[in-house]
Amino acid sequence: MNRLIRRAHRLTRVAARAVWALLDRRHPILAQVVPMRRCNLACAYCNEYDTTSLPVPLPEMLARLDKLADLGTSMITVSGGEPLMHPELDAMVAHMRRRGMVSSVITNGYYLSPERIRRLNAARLDYLQISIDNVQPDAVSMKSLRLLEPKLRWLAELAEFSVNVNSVVGGGISVPEDALAVARRARELGFTSSVGIIHDGRGQLRAFDERQMAVYRTLRGMGSRGDTRVNRIFQDNLAHGRPNQWRCRAGARYLYVDEAGRVHYCSQQRGTPGIPLAEYTAEDLRREYDTPKECAPFCTVNCVQRVALFDNWRSPQKTAPPRARTEAVPAAVPDASRATDRALAN
Ligand code: SF4
Ligand code: SF4
Repeated sequence: MNRLIRRAHRLTRVAARAVWALLDRRHPILAQVVPMRRCNLACAYCNEYDTTSLPVPLPEMLARLDKLADLGTSMITVSGGEPLMHPELDAMVAHMRRRGMVSSVITNGYYLSPERIRRLNAARLDYLQISIDNVQPDAVSMKSLRLLEPKLRWLAELAEFSVNVNSVVGGGISVPEDALAVARRARELGFTSSVGIIHDGRGQLRAFDERQMAVYRTLRGMGSRGDTRVNRIFQDNLAHGRPNQWRCRAGARYLYVDEAGRVHYCSQQRGTPGIPLAEYTAEDLRREYDTPKECAPFCTVNCVQRVALFDNWRSPQKTAPPRARTEAVPAAVPDASRATDRALAN
């Protein structure tokens, strides 16, 4: 019963936020924050983690969340690194809810336990996404169904928040068909599922081969219960290697706030605009809303594309892109076939 009440309440809040996003184009719809760059895993394709950094202190994170709330942000996704390595993640989630924002966490799942799930319930988390890359762990990824199965069962039994399981097709994932097994298991347990399409180190497209395309078609045929339903035309174009016509509103409707508190377009275009969140203004939001991004046609950053659906129908972009204020962040590994759980799926 508790779950049903929470679900109804969550859907009502999200619907109200969606209406507000349609009516007002001057506030961020989604912000992704990084409270910890460190990760307990080392996926071969990932350029978004380190092995040594410390958690951002809680007061600093709360100040960033307050600033995002003051800018009118509707929803926050906490990512990393691995956000569950931050000892005070629950306090951040509770603060988002106190400030009226929809709360979401993306995790590799390793630190989930019955006690941690209950703490996230108590903090009133809205959404959790767990990323699973394969059925058996291998040298590319340890985010495997076999290792994470107990965590999925605990989530099915205890979580009062909504759970989405994301799998990926492409890149270094050796068995594309594993994405089907992951999606089927997610649905058996009552979760939504989504599939990420591979990109290179700057968020750009890598077309599917025949085997990957067959998996993608099967996933589509299963009938999406996740975000692919909303973003299907984009996903189809990317799977076929075709460009998308859209207006990326990163820096305005979507903000990526790194562990140092700087705002970037997205996880794959770090360095621009590179402005500290504390100094980010309504003028910055306006400028970036109107700024076209050259990387848009072959972009695979799904969350930013979903956010753009609110505005694609209005306000053509004309402003010339500004110069980056900080150094662009280079890809961490030389292989171009990489994707991350966050960039692909959230
Ligand atoms: S993809 Fe996620 S789990 Fe894997 S190394 Fe990167 S941050 Fe960690
Ligand atoms: S189009 Fe937007 S979301 Fe995609 S890579 Fe470029 S800046 Fe990032």
